[in-house]
Amino acid sequence: MSMREIKLCLLGDSGVGKSSLVQRFVSDTFNTHSQPTIGASFMSKTLVVDDQSYKFQIWDTAGQEKYRGLAPMYYRGAAAAIIVYDITRESSFSAVKMWVRELEQYGPGDVVLAIAGNKADLVDQREVTYDEAHKYADQINATFVETSAKTAVNVTQLFTAITRKLPAEI
Ligand code: GDP
Repeated sequence: MSMREIKLCLLGDSGVGKSSLVQRFVSDTFNTHSQPTIGASFMSKTLVVDDQSYKFQIWDTAGQEKYRGLAPMYYRGAAAAIIVYDITRESSFSAVKMWVRELEQYGPGDVVLAIAGNKADLVDQREVTYDEAHKYADQINATFVETSAKTAVNVTQLFTAITRKLPAEI
């Protein structure tokens, strides 16, 4: 079976669960008290979809202002990006638009984009409706899912959906 290597960048406000989503995807575990990411972290995980093997190289950044100068390097060669917000924090959803602009500015033009509304297990604290987020994602041609790094809901599905949107290999 051939292997496709996919560089994927994670974007989104601090605390929305980017590192937790990666940890769930890569090692199927969850920490309630995860350590904040310093600078950028890098993890890799292979996923088989429709008889094709995909090796995801996942870049997770803390997004701090002092690392902004590294943005072009961070995005270079990315085939896919996931912008994460927290369904219990409206401000993190408003910030998605800013992250989309950042990606347009520094990222490759043909990047496959997904938006993940994380912490879907905390429905009783929901501040962002499924419909408003889904509508916005449709407008910008992004895949949309609500995920929970805690319960694992839709985490593999998120990465699987991305593989299905990748352009055919030349
Ligand atoms: P990051 O700054 O975006 O990388 O966010 P982290 O992965 O460090 O997560 C921030 C906090 O949210 C941590 O305390 C996590 O345990 C918690 N968290 C992350 N994902 C979820 C989730 O899906 N559900 C719940 N309830 N908590 C989560």
